[in-house]
Amino acid sequence: MSNGHENLNRVGGAPSWVQSAEYPTCVNCARKMPFLAQLDSDLPLAEGGDWQWGSGGLGYVFWCSACRISALLWQCT
Ligand SMILES: [Zn+2]
Repeated sequence: MSNGHENLNRVGGAPSWVQSAEYPTCVNCARKMPFLAQLDSDLPLAEGGDWQWGSGGLGYVFWCSACRISALLWQCT
């Protein structure tokens, strides 16, 4: 859970879901993919401005090490 004041960018650990928990399935081996990292909104862009996941949500990265395949999904309110 987030109170809007903590750093929500992280590698490893447990995801801070905006909506309900959601783990993608690896397109190669069909196993549930482990969480790798998450990125918050408001990250500065090289060309100026801030990145937003929808209305200010979070992006989640998953990684199947056996297949070396990544997945990305995002959630917002
Ligand atoms: Zn896989």
